Amino acid sequence: MRALPHRPLLLPAFLPSALFGLLLPLEGQTLPDPAGAITRELVEAHVRFLSSDELQGRDAFGPFIGLAEDYIAREFARAGLREFPSFPGYRHTFSYEFRNRRDTTAAPVTYRLSNIVGWLEGTDPVLKDEFILFGAHHDHVGVRGDTGDVIYNGADDNATGTTAVLALANYFARAKLNKRSLVFATFTAEERGLIGSRQLAQDLPFPADKLVAMINFEMLGKPAADGSYTLMVLGPERSTLDEIFRAALPPNSPISLVDPLPHQVRYYNASDNRSFDALGHITTTLASPRSTDDPLYHRPNDHFEHLDLDYLTKAIQAIAAMTLPLVTAEATPVKTPGGPEAFAGEARERRRNP
Ligand SMILES: [Zn+2]
Repeated sequence: MRALPHRPLLLPAFLPSALFGLLLPLEGQTLPDPAGAITRELVEAHVRFLSSDELQGRDAFGPFIGLAEDYIAREFARAGLREFPSFPGYRHTFSYEFRNRRDTTAAPVTYRLSNIVGWLEGTDPVLKDEFILFGAHHDHVGVRGDTGDVIYNGADDNATGTTAVLALANYFARAKLNKRSLVFATFTAEERGLIGSRQLAQDLPFPADKLVAMINFEMLGKPAADGSYTLMVLGPERSTLDEIFRAALPPNSPISLVDPLPHQVRYYNASDNRSFDALGHITTTLASPRSTDDPLYHRPNDHFEHLDLDYLTKAIQAIAAMTLPLVTAEATPVKTPGGPEAFAGEARERRRNP
């Protein structure tokens, strides 16, 4: 794996917060500085609310997830995202019939579930028919047990990924560099088996062959176990997405990208990107390398207090920069011939010759 040394962010400390007038040159284009729009204050406000006890662990089959969904829809409206006509109020609502596998005699229960989906129309008359989808699940596992801390707040999993979607929506809405159309989606019921994302992948409100890439976010709240500011790109063997990201990440970014270690490879199939991959789309999940080995994973103390907001903020800023060529249509990912098999040898080679 490639773990590059942590380099400081080479931005002056005196940058004003309303900074969209200031453009930084990046590989021949101008980019509104992500640090000006994706601030630690904004990131903290989102992740703090989404992981608060008030939301009772955001169980997709319980009533409190509605508070998270209302918040996300409000933030989409505030960012200026459009609603798809089939998803009024940014809500992609559907019925899901739950059958209890442990009690096969129990009657099935039907739930009304909602993904939250908004979009930005592309600025180019032709390229606006192509779509990049940014997604993350907003649900978690709710309340379990009846003594002690019973609320599973899911701060890292996945208030952080949801925060990334909100921050990127706000950023790209202001940047207006998207020749392609951008879709921002937060999924319900990932923890119940990728239910929300599977439904959206089936119900895309545009032609499925116009989805250029689906970028998913999971557990972005803590640096790697050794403290390094790395971000893991899952499924690098499947498409050229990771090459596009590596080329676009500014050399002075405090974040460096790493491939999954052998025991982490299977996590490509562990989140909502899988629902889109299953229908043939190019996808990835971006996650902290810590996410697969965190002792607080699916524990009641996956709390806000344990997050590293500096890492989270810088990770989202890096994501804004490294996905820009997809947004501006300067890059188009393709599937890698040979896929996972071809990659095994290449990854070995990379580890020998980093
Ligand atoms: Zn998750």
